[in-house]
Amino acid sequence: MTLSFQTHSADETIALGREIAQRIRDARIVLLRGDLGAGKTTLTKGIAEAFDAAAQEEVTSPTFTLVHEYRGPERTLYHVDLYRIETERELYTLGLDDMINEDGNILLIEWGEKFERMQRDKDAEIVIERLGESNRRLTLTTRE
Ligand code: ADP
Ligand code: MG
Repeated sequence: MTLSFQTHSADETIALGREIAQRIRDARIVLLRGDLGAGKTTLTKGIAEAFDAAAQEEVTSPTFTLVHEYRGPERTLYHVDLYRIETERELYTLGLDDMINEDGNILLIEWGEKFERMQRDKDAEIVIERLGESNRRLTLTTRE
């Protein structure tokens, strides 16, 4: 299923994240796609809030740390940034497989589309396009 939305501010994107969270509650791998500054991390703030896993200001870019973990009562979110990961081997050493295999975990992955494996195994994908300074189109695609 594909759903499309438009937002006009970072706050609207956070609010949208809260709304669409229920649509990815049973997903393991969610690819967040879009250029630098598109709003992938901003959207994650809303998703993390919806799962009671983190307050929006606690969610920051995992650019250097690569993986951030946010634990909620029902789901644990792993926010992953693969921008700096170049090889399958480096990807493997992050230990994402253990996270993927545990019940109740959702991986929100930025730059996951770089890897064939992530493309193949994804359960959902959210593409964010920059239409203007603060205007974004978000397209959510899920399996069903
Ligand atoms: P990414 O993780 O995709 O690199 P970020 O979420 O870190 O992007 O940054 C998005 C930037 O764009 C932030 O500075 C945010 O305030 C700004 N912004 C402006 N309008 C929007 C919008 N509609 N949705 C999301 N972010 C927006
Ligand atoms: Mg980001």
